[in-house]
Amino acid sequence: MTSHPHSFSRYCMHCGQRLTTAIPENDTKRRLVCFDCGFVHYINPRPVAGLIPVREDGQLLLVRRAIEPRAGTWVFPGGYMDLGETAEEAAARETLEEANLEVSGLSLLGVYTRPGPGVVVIVYEALALSEGSPGEECSEVRWFHPGGIPWDELAFDSTIAALHDWAKRHGLDAPYRVPTVEERDF
Ligand SMILES: [Zn+2]
Repeated sequence: MTSHPHSFSRYCMHCGQRLTTAIPENDTKRRLVCFDCGFVHYINPRPVAGLIPVREDGQLLLVRRAIEPRAGTWVFPGGYMDLGETAEEAAARETLEEANLEVSGLSLLGVYTRPGPGVVVIVYEALALSEGSPGEECSEVRWFHPGGIPWDELAFDSTIAALHDWAKRHGLDAPYRVPTVEERDF
């Protein structure tokens, strides 16, 4: 069972009192607040850095997820940023951890918000410097021709949207229609 990215303590991190919800002064939304010491526990979306590795021959690498959520589906390498690193560094680090793959020449592809889980996915593409192999949290890595992207087996709506944009950027057919917000169930 993986924890939700926004799982948090119900207790004040400063004084240990139980938090409650209230609209703080000069605010418009309910927040978790501590009535004892006045601390307001803001909960914000978290940035995720992702990267689409591309070979000289135009094929791109996806990894098969070995963990929930969406175990067994395909996604490009990515994960939560660590404090102290840039988005580019996080994207390259995740690619090394998940696919044992070094890359160079990162280029920003787009930014994709997943409002449900509260993550903002920053996606780059970059040139792959080797073939890669399965690393952390992955059961398999595979190179795909752009025409062979497994659109029906992708992990997240952000995965679909980013690969759609990637295909468009390279003048390729993007046969998959990006789901509307109402259609998204993950
Ligand atoms: Zn407190």
